[in-house]
Amino acid sequence: MPTGKIIIAIDGYSSCGKSTIAKELATKLGYNYIDSGAMYRAITLYFLRNNVDLTNTASVSDAIASINLTFEFNSLTHSSDIHLNEENVASYIRDMLVSDKVSEVAAIREVRTFAVAQQKEMGRKKGIVMDGRDIGTAVFPGAELKIFMTADPEVRVMRRFKEMYATNHNITIEEVRHNLELRDYIDSTREESPLHRAKDAVLLDNSSMTKSEQLELVIRWVKEKSASLR
Ligand code: C5P
Repeated sequence: MPTGKIIIAIDGYSSCGKSTIAKELATKLGYNYIDSGAMYRAITLYFLRNNVDLTNTASVSDAIASINLTFEFNSLTHSSDIHLNEENVASYIRDMLVSDKVSEVAAIREVRTFAVAQQKEMGRKKGIVMDGRDIGTAVFPGAELKIFMTADPEVRVMRRFKEMYATNHNITIEEVRHNLELRDYIDSTREESPLHRAKDAVLLDNSSMTKSEQLELVIRWVKEKSASLR
């Protein structure tokens, strides 16, 4: 495996499997993995719990000033869980209530400034894989490897439905489809760092790829990139 540490930025639509590949890649390379979406979800959870008025900039800024986000290693799941003001909120942030609101919250300039500053800091020493919507365009525009992921919308709906159904038998395919369509729409059309493919990002459409084929391909890209930087 390559020696010099790089930054790997993975962006793309909702439920393309970004976090799966990002986690596998980080484990394989001995890098840190950061799920930037978890940060926007935790902020949204705080806003919901505290009835923050999203249209009131002062209330939003006050709320943000009361938020402390950290990632802590969970030895049971062998992954990092997001903590909101020292509370492990990993199991709450995937809730539909949060999913339904998160794109609206993530479109707010003050929210993005807060999250992006922390994300940039996390990449200071490189050796990081971060996934999200603006990682290759706004957080790490100089990332050595940028991947833009996509997959057939129905494939994405079914993947997310299966994932959510495991913990919530009341969820319907229609609800999941509506949520993904809405988030993709808001994320791609917002004014602040909308989701789009960076010019230098490689495209990964994994609609009909197995997880191992996908990992093999991305590892090849990492090796090629690292070799070209020597
Ligand atoms: O990645 P995940 O689907 O958990 O992200 C939840 C939401 O957080 C996205 O739909 C998007 O609105 C927001 N997000 C963002 N920028 C990122 C990561 C996530 O705006 N870098």
